[in-house]
Amino acid sequence: MTGTLMVGVSGVRGIVDRDLTPEVVTRWAAAFGTWVREAGRPSVIVGRDSRKSGPRFTAAVIAGLGGAGCRVIDVGLAPTPTIQLAVLHHGAGGGIAITASHNPIEWNALKFIGPDGIFLDGANSARVLDLAAREGRGTGEGGRVEKDPGAIERHLAGVLALPIVRVERIRARKFTVALDAVRGAGGPIMGTLLERLGCSVTGINLETDGDFPRAPEPVPEHLGDLGALVRRSGADLGIAVDPDVDRLAIVDEGGTPIGEDYTLGFAVRAVLGKGDGGRGKGATVVCNLSTSLVVDDAAREYGADVVRTPVGEAHVARKMEELGAPIGGEGNGGVIYPALHAGRDAPVAAALVLELLAGSGRRVSEQVAAAPRYTIVKAKVPRGAELGPVYAALKQRFPDARADEQDGLRLGWRDRWLHVRPSNTEPIIRLIAEAPAPELARQLVEEGRRLCAVS
Ligand code: MG
Repeated sequence: MTGTLMVGVSGVRGIVDRDLTPEVVTRWAAAFGTWVREAGRPSVIVGRDSRKSGPRFTAAVIAGLGGAGCRVIDVGLAPTPTIQLAVLHHGAGGGIAITASHNPIEWNALKFIGPDGIFLDGANSARVLDLAAREGRGTGEGGRVEKDPGAIERHLAGVLALPIVRVERIRARKFTVALDAVRGAGGPIMGTLLERLGCSVTGINLETDGDFPRAPEPVPEHLGDLGALVRRSGADLGIAVDPDVDRLAIVDEGGTPIGEDYTLGFAVRAVLGKGDGGRGKGATVVCNLSTSLVVDDAAREYGADVVRTPVGEAHVARKMEELGAPIGGEGNGGVIYPALHAGRDAPVAAALVLELLAGSGRRVSEQVAAAPRYTIVKAKVPRGAELGPVYAALKQRFPDARADEQDGLRLGWRDRWLHVRPSNTEPIIRLIAEAPAPELARQLVEEGRRLCAVS
């Protein structure tokens, strides 16, 4: 049977007990443990989101790591960024986050974290894949396990201690915040963070039992209940996080989801606009090729440049490190603020959003209206064997666009773009376009679709 087990650059995911069984989990954890031991620091942080299979898979991961001779530090139920931070805190050789992020409830996954707190990629990831293909089942023997119950509190303290977050000024605003954590790992940390920032919090889905009541991705079409809660409670804003708490989306004071792209746009404004407004000069903001122009507009306002990378958190994080970027992330609501650590972090994003609102004195809808608005349109088409002719036809059709071929083809103009790239997981081509008006974005996607079909 063709399985659903999907092996990616930074880990492995699948449908629980169909392809991602405890035996598979143990084998992959053993491969990762062998890689960690080869690198010379045989200790690994393990944590999980709220999915029902989490406790069982934690045991399976610990068995694999123990069999590989690693010392294990278990942080328990925790956000992915908390696990990344714990790797740094303990000086561990790596980490495994047991989470399928925003995937539906029947999925789970292992995500491999390197000693720098960034997801594995490149040669390191290739080595783990190679080891997993060769190793038998993990032996499940030996190894020591310690519990670390303090990881979430350290994460909270780290966010609140960031100089950029002026806690007293935010507290003075006494924000009312509606919170939806989709019964993932985020209820406790997000609720506590907001309370320590002086917010009055009204929440839904804060339980950490993994019974996702809706599709877990924090995109506008899934945030109807949060919007209703904002209206009912008269909240200043709504905040939604995904199950492993690395993505955050905002709902405005009228209950309307503003789109997850704005989270990074707001964070860029909070970071670059602090103080005299001149902090952005010469700075670089890093995001991926499919990120909205609201980020470019925010960067431009403060004199910063934008550099784009292929899609994938590790690509963004490593480019940020290389360029010394003060802020970056992805248009899906993932904010990376390296002053704390180099991973997408929803608690950091929440603090930066409140910092911006407290500083500007604007309501969310006013903050959105203060800059150009765009529409993003997405489509997918079946892919043929060869993508070269498709890209050539697109470049010929749009000779005035700037072409970026790091990851598929992105054709860019000042106020619009079209990104055409093959899916990593399905035999399709994804088309995504952004423009100042819906019909313009649709035209770009339709022209891309037409050229995909004839090329
Ligand atoms: Mg996630």
